[in-house]
This record gives sequence, structure tokens and C-alpha cells, in this order.
Amino acid sequence: MSTTPANSIDGIAVWNGHEALGTSTLSWAGDAILAVEPSTADSAALAEYSIIPGLVDTHVHISGYAGTRTVDWSSWPIVTPAEEKTLHIAANARKAASMGITTLRDLAGDENQMAVARVFDEGILPGPRLLVSGQVGMTAGHGDLFVPPHYPVRDRLADSPDECRKLVRHWARAGATGIKIYLSGGVLSIGDKVGWRNQTLEEIRTTIDEAHALGLPVAAHTHSAEGVEIALAEGVDSIEHGTGVSSKHWAELVEKNIPVAPTLMINNFIADGTVSFSEEAQQKAKQVVAERDAGFVGAGAAGVRFVLGTDANGKFVVFGDQYEEIRMMAETFEWTAERALVAATSDAADVVGMAAKVGTLAEGFGADFIVIKGRPWENIDDMRVENIVAVVSRGVVVSGELPS
Ligand SMILES: [Zn+2]
Repeated sequence: MSTTPANSIDGIAVWNGHEALGTSTLSWAGDAILAVEPSTADSAALAEYSIIPGLVDTHVHISGYAGTRTVDWSSWPIVTPAEEKTLHIAANARKAASMGITTLRDLAGDENQMAVARVFDEGILPGPRLLVSGQVGMTAGHGDLFVPPHYPVRDRLADSPDECRKLVRHWARAGATGIKIYLSGGVLSIGDKVGWRNQTLEEIRTTIDEAHALGLPVAAHTHSAEGVEIALAEGVDSIEHGTGVSSKHWAELVEKNIPVAPTLMINNFIADGTVSFSEEAQQKAKQVVAERDAGFVGAGAAGVRFVLGTDANGKFVVFGDQYEEIRMMAETFEWTAERALVAATSDAADVVGMAAKVGTLAEGFGADFIVIKGRPWENIDDMRVENIVAVVSRGVVVSGELPS
């Protein structure tokens, strides 16, 4: 048996997911950090570089078309067989990893994402850490309306408390690591309104009860104040989008430590026409952005726990846009650069249940990190894809070259 050889980078500034450590030596073997120690090496070659943990995006969708051909975004998923989709899922995940997003949580995944996650975890194919939440939503709910209304083949739906309980159990058996619910309509769903109620209180309570009984955190999509209030009252584990969060919710959000994934960029892009989807979606996004922005002013200073969650799907928000989202979060929430990086590394890792494995650079953690030009914890403007020097995912260089 040969042992995995150790690698190290000596004499480089390290930010460990919490604080700056100064000039350090980072050593790792396979997918394990061996040590992060102070270094006296004075490497001129490394002076302009630094190391930060791989990023954690708590809200992505990676089952879309991964190639360069122009395909219809909404019909491709329904005409493509599952066998083929799994390969696109793996390709999208690896694209994200090559951009330094080394942990992803897909918030509307199914058996396809779960298969890819297992293949990555077993090292059969190289790929990032992939967490998969199965959705429990109603007929005519946000999750149902990505498929045109007349189309007969649809994702699983749950229209009574019993059906909700059964669908949670289905996802638990399939290997999901979380559950996604909907507390309002959405932007890209076809034919609904952002303010529509999604499911009855009894259905929502049953889903949360069963998910928690089976150890699955519940992520709640909402674009309405009513949805935020239900999320807080019923004990969800994270709020997605958070439109409708206003100053009256801040104290409770902080007290309960509920994370909010703000998905700033995707709604901005749809609202301002940077990406075109449909007139319906653009009108909804404009409404969402106006309400969201009014409610988010001051929320960062009040201590609301925003974490990186982009809705990246490779089409409207591409893998790598996370860097711009992080800069946008720093600006929107009037955060320091370091606070914004915490939201994209150690705190996001905590939200997806991976705080002991990723998001922090220390002995025993997984070997996921980015070598980047600059000092992004001092200057958030350094968080740019063009500054990526190299990415190490599960101990392997997946893009760029390590500096020597
Ligand atoms: Zn989403």
C-alpha cells in the first residue's frame, strides 16, 4: 500500500474561513488538510496571491443543459432522458468546482443528482461535494410550473398532509440530504403569481415534522411577507430568496439564527432584462426586486444571517457568477469584505450541514481551496473569476496551476 503523497504551499497568505492567518504553509494529502501553520518563508513569487476556502453555494440547480449548443431552456429537461441528464448534472457540477465552488446544494434535485453525488463521493468520477434536497410542493405550486400546464409527465407532487409525509419519506429513502418547500409562487414558474399561497398550513407543518423526524433540514422558498411569517412560525431551517423580509422580521430572524439565501443576481438579471426569459417572468422579477430591496436595506446591519445562495443553473446565473453575487451581497448588506466571505464559506458550510468538513481551512478538514490573486477578505473587489489562480477540490487541482 502506498500512502497518498503530501502536498504543500509555503509562504502564502491564508484566510481560513473566519480570519486572516498571515503568511502560512498549507499542506494536504488526498482529501485532507494536514496543517495550516505560520510560515517564515518570504516568497516574492507568492506575495500577490492568497488562499481562501472553496466556496459553498447553498442554492443551485444543476440539472440543466451543460453544453454550448443553443437549446430551449424549458423544454430540454422534459425531452431529455434521465440517463443523459445525469451526465449534464456531473458536467455542471464540475464546471462549478473548476470555478472554486467546491460544495453545492441542489434545491430541487431528484434521483439523478443523488446518483451523481454518490459517484463523486466514491471517487468514481472527480467532482465537488453535492448535497441534494428533494422538493415537496403542490399541484400548481412554484415547483410544478416549470413544466407547461398541459404536459402529462410531471415531477412528484403532494396535495394533502399524507401525500406530503409520504413524499418526504420517498426522498429520505432515495438519499436526499434535505427537503425543499414552497411558501409562495415564483418568478420563473409559468402561469402563477408570486403572491400565491403554496400549500396549506397543515401540509407545511406535516412536511416539516416528517423532514425533521428523518433528520432532513427544510429550505423554504418564499417571495412574500406571509411566507416569511410561516417560515418563522413553523421552524424551517433556511429561507430562500427572502422577498418579503422586512424590518419587523429582523429580530426574530437573528434570534432564531435562520439563514437567508438572497439570490440577488438572478432576480436582478431577469428584472433588468440582462437575461431574457418571458415578459411574465420579467414583470414578476421587477415586483420581487422592488419589494426585496426595500426590505433588505438595513437587514445586514441588523445582523440577519444572509449566506451565499444564488439559484445558479448555468443559464441565467452561470457557475462562476458566485463571485459577483458575493460582491453584490457585501454592497447590499453594507458588510465588510470579511463578513461577505464568511457568508460564502464557513457559514454557508454550516447551513448545509458540512461545517465540520468544508468552509474552513484547518487540520482534518477536506482539501477544498482557491488560490487567488489579491486579499479578498480585505478588498472584496478582489473576488473575481479572473483572479482565480488555481482551485483544489477534494485534494486535486481542478483548474489553473498551483504557484510554486
Ligand atoms: Zn431555486
